[in-house]
Amino acid sequence: MHEMALCEGIVEIVEQEARKGAFAKVKTVWLEIGALSHVAPVALRFCFEAVTAKTLLQGATLEIIEQPGAAWCLGCSRSVEISQRYQPCPACGSHQLQVTGGEDMRVKELEVE
Ligand SMILES: [Zn+2]
Repeated sequence: MHEMALCEGIVEIVEQEARKGAFAKVKTVWLEIGALSHVAPVALRFCFEAVTAKTLLQGATLEIIEQPGAAWCLGCSRSVEISQRYQPCPACGSHQLQVTGGEDMRVKELEVE
């Protein structure tokens, strides 16, 4: 389950931030998940709780912000929203799409105390 590794990554990022920002506890984590990132929010929530126990993230709320996928269509020369890879352009039906967004997962914001 790669969500477990992702959660361990989140804990690492937050621990680095804690050292820089000198905070000891995190109340809320806002996480952006791209529609094309292959991350399942349900699995992520489950892992988050397991992985954050006994860390400065223990008991923190996980807020997931789902980002739509974005692509540049070579057919109609504009940016379009897509929900999965290899789908045709929703505007013109072209398959010549270059994915430009929604592939990543990142920690957007932390509420700390
Ligand atoms: Zn198009």
